[in-house]
Amino acid sequence: TAAATEELIIPPVQISHTQHLINGQFVDAASGKTFPAYDPRTGEVIAHVAEGDAEDINRAVAAARKAFDEGPWPKMSAYERSRILLRFADLVEKHSEELAALETWNNGKPYEQALHAELPMLARLFHYYAGWADKIHGLTVPADGKYHIQTLHEPIGVAGQIIPWNFPLLMFAWKVGPALACGNTIVLKSAEQTPLTALYVAKLFQEAGLPPGVLNVVSGDGPTAGAPLASHMDVDKVAFTGSTDTGKIILELAARSNLKPVTLELGGKSPFIICEDADIDHAVELAHFALFFNQGQCCCAGSRTFVHERVYDEFIEKAKARAVKRVVGDPFKKGVEQGPQIDNEQFEKVLRYIRAGIDSDATLECGGGRLGSKGYFIEPTVFSNVKDDMLIAKDEIFGPVQSILKFKDLDEVVRRANATRYGLAAGVFTRNIDTANYLTRALRAGTVWVNCFDVFDAAIPFGGYKMSGIGREKGIYSLHNYLQVKAVVTPLKNP
Ligand code: ADP
Repeated sequence: TAAATEELIIPPVQISHTQHLINGQFVDAASGKTFPAYDPRTGEVIAHVAEGDAEDINRAVAAARKAFDEGPWPKMSAYERSRILLRFADLVEKHSEELAALETWNNGKPYEQALHAELPMLARLFHYYAGWADKIHGLTVPADGKYHIQTLHEPIGVAGQIIPWNFPLLMFAWKVGPALACGNTIVLKSAEQTPLTALYVAKLFQEAGLPPGVLNVVSGDGPTAGAPLASHMDVDKVAFTGSTDTGKIILELAARSNLKPVTLELGGKSPFIICEDADIDHAVELAHFALFFNQGQCCCAGSRTFVHERVYDEFIEKAKARAVKRVVGDPFKKGVEQGPQIDNEQFEKVLRYIRAGIDSDATLECGGGRLGSKGYFIEPTVFSNVKDDMLIAKDEIFGPVQSILKFKDLDEVVRRANATRYGLAAGVFTRNIDTANYLTRALRAGTVWVNCFDVFDAAIPFGGYKMSGIGREKGIYSLHNYLQVKAVVTPLKNP
């Protein structure tokens, strides 16, 4: 693995917010308990954070309920709501260095990635939804009989939102942006691994003038804080991003309690298909990015690299050379492409999958082990000769492990690419427009990237087919998740 320059970018940040934000106040957990937040570079504790349980969730939901039922938020003019979202986005831009540093410190992702890619997307998403806030309206509907019929698009109420640790700030944005634009109030539970940045941006929302109780943030574990939120009788909608197994639990909790509607963004095992006519150097680079980006911790990672047999050998050589060159190290160092995995549990899990790959007779081209002796660093790992029935071709690994599979023709690759319980994303790499059109229509996935990968934009919907989820986030589609439609029917009479 290549070496990074020694220059450390000193994080200009202090950890100032560790308590829950409930009803506009930072408060301790009802139980008084805290849990540690870690630095994945070393495994050292960097903060003690209020540990939420059902009682904290009750308090937060009560605040959100009151802020919804009594206002002013849902009754405010849409333009005023839009202005608050814009002010928040401006504050994000102003504080982006601290936010990026805090994200890196608690998550391990490269600081330069957080600062130059994720923070601009965070601000952009709120600009985008600020633009929607005052453009949400219903229809006048022609119907049989003498009636005047209109539809009102109303906020749904209190939204419960549960987010994961791989993109703490962006997941916050995807959930909170549309919910607020539509006039809902929120209780958000951050991931137990990464509680810090959500609290920081929640404070920025206070500064931007968001009324108390509109956005409440509770830190804590899934079963003890997430589950009471998903099953709360006063929560009107739940949105979740995380593993497919937990998604099933959320759906069940929602159904067993008050049948609140649920959106789920879950796991994936996305195919990245490199056709025989592809520009190999470009394909190698994109396939590498598709898998290794964010330490491989992306639900949409291109984790099954299908390569046409005619270009397979050349591709393997080059993919291996690229992985060997990948710069792994302290994410605060300049030029680092890959930091540590999030925690020991994920680190061990990824190493177990690597062992499973070796045991199943896939060819280990490079990597395969831990890097260094502290923190959760893993060598960029490439397997070739991967077969469809191997564990590394079926399970979501969520780490820096590329699995390369060989294919012969398009029908075959479509069948194999679709032979998974997931359907989050797919990549297609070809210079032939007919091949591209054929594949984009045949692949069962919520996003198909053609000659690109991981292109995210506030306006582009994202979500899964099959067991990768329910519903779409971002773009106009996310608004539907946070609105109810009321039909109003009035007889038309001659006065
Ligand atoms: P991962 O494997 O990526 O950590 P999880 O699905 O376990 O994914 O976690 C994603 C989010 O779901 C986190 O905020 C976590 O606390 C929460 N969570 C985990 N288990 C539950 C549960 N039983 N009920 C509600 N939320 C949960």
